[in-house]
Amino acid sequence: MDLIKKANRVYLDNFKPETWFGRCIFLSWYCDVGTCKFCYRSTQKDRIKHAKNARRSLPSILTEALLAKKLNWKIEFLTGGYKIFPVEELVDMIKKVSYIYGEKIWINLGALKPEELKLFKPYIKGVVGSIETIEPSLHDKVCPNKPIYQYEEMFNHAKNFKRSITIVIGLGEKKEHFSLLCNFIRKHNLDRITFYALKPIKGTLYTKGPSTEDYIWWIANTRIKFPTLEIIAGTTLRRVSEVNFLLKAGANAITKFPITKKFGSEEAKIMEKQIRLSKRKFNGYLTKLPNINWDKEVGQLKLDKNLKQNIKITLNQYIKKMEKKIT
Ligand code: SF4
Repeated sequence: MDLIKKANRVYLDNFKPETWFGRCIFLSWYCDVGTCKFCYRSTQKDRIKHAKNARRSLPSILTEALLAKKLNWKIEFLTGGYKIFPVEELVDMIKKVSYIYGEKIWINLGALKPEELKLFKPYIKGVVGSIETIEPSLHDKVCPNKPIYQYEEMFNHAKNFKRSITIVIGLGEKKEHFSLLCNFIRKHNLDRITFYALKPIKGTLYTKGPSTEDYIWWIANTRIKFPTLEIIAGTTLRRVSEVNFLLKAGANAITKFPITKKFGSEEAKIMEKQIRLSKRKFNGYLTKLPNINWDKEVGQLKLDKNLKQNIKITLNQYIKKMEKKIT
């Protein structure tokens, strides 16, 4: 509790008492690496023979961008594994998501090369490296085909962008590895870090996630060491009653909660309650839909007529499902 109190003090000395929900937008459920020992995609790779079939449709991706905009969620980042779309298609998608959302966005699309960064530049504010775990030998074991040095190279080329990493707690890291994390944050002058608590996936090596204490320990110590760093903390349906502690440990915002599937659910209500307990101001919609003429919103977009028609269809499906959950 002393650690949390100290971290909360540091947070409040450096940020307004506010928070937000960050929605991560997935582009596909296939990944060309597919060998990280904790990841759902590593259990799916052999079952998905054609990466093309595992792509998400453009209207569905853009629908999420519009929902994020109108329901006051931030876009955590656009992601979806490696080598899923040709780069020209990615540029077009990122451009459209950024247009609909009304801001440049973060992307987490692997270790990008300078020429790719150049193409994305007009539409992105930052790049994310999915480091997952920082200690080199553990990293080589958990992510054998995703070397850290590739991300370091990307960060070296990405001096004109914001830079962020993701770290999963529960993969076998030790508290003494914290100094390695601090060195990495300093070395690459990171603007943001996203922590996740490992969600054990059937078919992987892992059967349980970290304790709340361990998860919070990493967040709180990072906040104390880096008072102005943006820290995002992931939660899941099972861990949602930790949200108050994640925020008090110094996280700026919460991500990873499957909001479109669980909008208005009991778990979404718990998340709202937890945010209230943290005494942070929150403007996002998680349990009630505001009064919005969605057809009109889509109609106003400066996009191709067919694409808009398909967004309307997808959006109506989403809204119907979300309304059903609201009790
Ligand atoms: S690169 Fe990312 S998406 Fe692919 S297997 Fe590893 S953790 Fe999963």
